[in-house]
Amino acid sequence: MNKACDVVVVGGGVAGTHTAMSVARFSGGRLSVTLIDRNPSSEFGKKTKTGWSCGDAVSRKSMDFACDNIGISYGYPEIEHQVEGVLVYSPDHESRVLFDGDGYILNRRVWAMRQLEYLVKMGVEVLHRVDVHSVLVEDGFVAGVSGKNLATGEDVKIRAKVVVDASGSASKLRSNLPIKSNIEREIDKENDVIGTGRYIVEFERGEEDETWFDPRYCIIHLDQVLAPGGYSWVFPKGENKANIGLGILKRLLHKRNAKLGINENIQDLIEKYLGMNRVVRNPRPSTSPLDENNIFNIWQVPVRRQNDCLVANGFAIVGDAAWMPRPIDAGGIGPALEASVILGRCIVEALEAGDVSEAGLWKYNVEYVRRRGYQMASFEVLRRYLQGLSNERISFGMKYFLSQEDVESIKRREHPRFPLLTSLKRYLLDSELRRRVREDPGLAKGLRIAAEKSRRLIRLYSEYPENPASFTKWHRRFLAELRDAYKRLSPQEF
Ligand SMILES: Cc1cc2nc3c(=O)[nH]c(=O)nc-3n(C[C@H](O)[C@H](O)[C@H](O)COP(=O)(O)OP(=O)(O)OC[C@H]3O[C@@H](n4cnc5c(N)ncnc54)[C@H](O)[C@@H]3O)c2cc1C
Repeated sequence: MNKACDVVVVGGGVAGTHTAMSVARFSGGRLSVTLIDRNPSSEFGKKTKTGWSCGDAVSRKSMDFACDNIGISYGYPEIEHQVEGVLVYSPDHESRVLFDGDGYILNRRVWAMRQLEYLVKMGVEVLHRVDVHSVLVEDGFVAGVSGKNLATGEDVKIRAKVVVDASGSASKLRSNLPIKSNIEREIDKENDVIGTGRYIVEFERGEEDETWFDPRYCIIHLDQVLAPGGYSWVFPKGENKANIGLGILKRLLHKRNAKLGINENIQDLIEKYLGMNRVVRNPRPSTSPLDENNIFNIWQVPVRRQNDCLVANGFAIVGDAAWMPRPIDAGGIGPALEASVILGRCIVEALEAGDVSEAGLWKYNVEYVRRRGYQMASFEVLRRYLQGLSNERISFGMKYFLSQEDVESIKRREHPRFPLLTSLKRYLLDSELRRRVREDPGLAKGLRIAAEKSRRLIRLYSEYPENPASFTKWHRRFLAELRDAYKRLSPQEF
């Protein structure tokens, strides 16, 4: 197959579908858009062979942003359940923080089908069962894609003015990008990729204990022994149904296994977590036809800040391919939805202006950083610091050093500023706080540094360059700040 269009989007996940819809919407249907996904149409948007691997939670705010801008709406059954927020519990279950506000628990399999319906309705051409292996290049610009039809073995070549890589965290296109570009090709797999897995289960209700299951809230448990470097979750899909899983940093799991003299993998840990839950009795795979081929799966999530540059000549990255999930909780659906809307609009503007160079597409970088991206490096620093703490210190910190103001910041999806530790006046006036700081001065200092670094990184993002010419200079300062943060907050006891 040989054809040409204005925009080609690779990947039929949440990022690819909404970018394609956004281009269609903002161009009023004037641009030709082709979306390519490697799955058959009946399994559209499937991440891995074993399913639509996800915790399925998204905030209402992000969903509304995408729906309002693109002019679409979602309802039951793709939205399976509604929640009032996400509750994060300390390892001892004694402290909790509520964040993110109202949200939805999706059925990703059904949601993908709804997205496909919208794509077709909006005039986007969808090619199923095509695996894209590389980009076409012309005069230093990406000029299309090459792939293979997995059903027929036929070679597929599609020329396009802009190529969007929305092919997820294992993107080949980004890592093999053959043109000169500011896009980083590889992620630090040791430190910035979380291995995750989850079950969709039905169960009977055992004991009443809201710290283990509450149909009104998504629950996250921090526990460095059960989920080293990550966390575990129980996201309700009804009164007797939930998405239950966990994520770990492989390096820390190996360390923890060696320390305990055992050899547990992610699946072992999930089974253990299921067994610990006092409310979830007799968990078994969901029998709903809506969950067919989507019961258990394991996959990876990038948890660093988004790629420091998201565009190149004729090329853009979005979603997991651009490392967009929020570093602290691996929530990637919201960032992908918001970035997709922005990217679609910027592509239309660039094509209308006749400039799809890195400079012509640069506005996407600036707008994404202003809307969501500006927080991500500070969350990356906080996440790396917390990963190095023991359960006892996390429980202690959440109990004594997290103020109401911090909780409010977290609710607004912002980095906590730890005013109890950063305000000298408060410190001097509060004898109980001084006693706690003396109990663990290292923790107090670490959180203080994380707060200070957060402010500096957010300030640097506010100076994100308006054009590529100033990028290198800005990037150098930004990386120096990050490196200094890692030096001063190096992992401790894990
Ligand atoms: C276990 C787990 C739990 C999670 N929980 C949550 C959560 O609760 N909330 C949240 O917000 N986020 C969560 N995330 C993250 C979230 O799922 C992702 O951030 C989001 O789905 C990314 O969407 P995407 O479109 O960028 O990529 P993907 O969903 O990976 O989609 C990529 C698509 O491209 C296709 N593709 C890949 N390569 C090619 C190719 N070469 N050619 C053609 N097609 C290709 C794939 O088959 C797929 O259809 C979780 C992730 C995991 C793994």
